[in-house]
Amino acid sequence: MDYISPNNNNDASTKEMAFGRNPWLVSYFLVLFGVLVFGSTVAIKFSKKSEVIQQIDIAIADQNVLQQVASAPGIAPVSSVAPVSSVAPVSTVAPIPSVASVDNKQVVLAAAELKEVPKDVPKTLIFTVRSKDNLGRILKRSGLDAKIAASVLKFKQARVLKGLHAGKKISLTLDPTKTKLQELTYEINDLDTLIVTAKNDIWHVKTKHIEPTVNTKYASATIKGSIYTAGKNAGVPSKLMPQLVSAFSNKVNVNKLRSGDSFALFYKEHTVNGKKIGDNQIAAAELRHDGQLHRVIGFTDPHGRTNFYTPDGHSVEPSFIRYPVTNFKYIGSRFSVARHHPLLDIIRAHRGVDFTADRGTPVRATCNGRVTYVGRHGGHGKTIIMERGPYTTLFAHLSKYSDVIFPGKHVKRGDVIGYVGSSGLATGPHLHYEFHINGVPHDPLKVKLPAGEMIAAEYRGRFFAQSKKLVAQLELHRKNHRMFAMNSQPDIK
Ligand SMILES: [Zn+2]
Repeated sequence: MDYISPNNNNDASTKEMAFGRNPWLVSYFLVLFGVLVFGSTVAIKFSKKSEVIQQIDIAIADQNVLQQVASAPGIAPVSSVAPVSSVAPVSTVAPIPSVASVDNKQVVLAAAELKEVPKDVPKTLIFTVRSKDNLGRILKRSGLDAKIAASVLKFKQARVLKGLHAGKKISLTLDPTKTKLQELTYEINDLDTLIVTAKNDIWHVKTKHIEPTVNTKYASATIKGSIYTAGKNAGVPSKLMPQLVSAFSNKVNVNKLRSGDSFALFYKEHTVNGKKIGDNQIAAAELRHDGQLHRVIGFTDPHGRTNFYTPDGHSVEPSFIRYPVTNFKYIGSRFSVARHHPLLDIIRAHRGVDFTADRGTPVRATCNGRVTYVGRHGGHGKTIIMERGPYTTLFAHLSKYSDVIFPGKHVKRGDVIGYVGSSGLATGPHLHYEFHINGVPHDPLKVKLPAGEMIAAEYRGRFFAQSKKLVAQLELHRKNHRMFAMNSQPDIK
């Protein structure tokens, strides 16, 4: 049940019983009652079109019902308490009672009178979104026309209201006549609030954004056992440890970390009004393994994507992936340099490597680059050639090309460019893959892959300023730590 009549108010009936038992109490209340009626009457006279608005906060265990503001023109404000099972507060517009018929409600008024707020204040209702709720339903619950929803949802910025999340709060401010919506606010997340206001019957939609407070914290540990245990003991938030490990995974075999290796990090903690929001982020970290020091800097671009770079601006993600097919069965034929076989008088060379795989297995670009050739290529059959700076990669014996691949196309590392087959001179389905640097073939399985991509030019200024500062702070902490632990642990290099 959503609605409880104020006449059913338990508080009031309790008081009524008390009247019957104690004549002194009766007299007392009669006097109080008289004063109240007199007061109300006077108040009504002095506030012709005004309303007395009463705000009663009701705390219910599940905190779903937060606030109820109810009013009845000229007289008793009425509180209505939605039962706990009902999720949202319900507006109660009481019929206009005449002063003469005042009954139990007056007693309720006496109890609630302390919180009286000024006249002509619009009425604000706060709703908690229920599952499968929509804006129309919520408007209806507030006593408004559900059709208002359609006109609000027309706005691009208000589309977030199409997918209301259960448990979130939406507040509606009604004009004093309670027939028009003056303002709607919806907390999209901890930082953004959608605000829809009506001015002269025109909707204005905006999103208010608050910047969180960012605190930078420091933690360091020497590994004894696992890096995760060390992190936990050092008080590093548990969600940061996988981030830390993955940031170094291309430099260090994390499984080979051992006692005596150490790490340190700065991480950011975001708060709004003292409340922690979102996940922590690593700002900078260092890992000392086998006497070598590795450092990474976390950088968040304006789109909110955080990536890790070496302090000199190269992504920790390698710019090439080693294998163009991930689920090959075995290496059918390895790379061998071209040399003339003296006895057989033929040239035995294999300029690439053969990955034996099922026909149709996706073949992926091993770097970001430009497709320069798509087509038959002699004994290579269906072939794709890609270029990136001095590097050229070749993919042969394909069964087919990806639909979106054509010469001149720029592709990203990991994009599917074609499928394994046996076109050209091939005994069975496999991918023949070549890796050239300045036109010279190299063993794709052994070639030293180039460093990660340089951070985008537009962010370099900001990145290097940040990187310089963070590295200096890491150094400072390291020095202090070394002085502190000078006798317990000799520093390598
Ligand atoms: Zn081959």
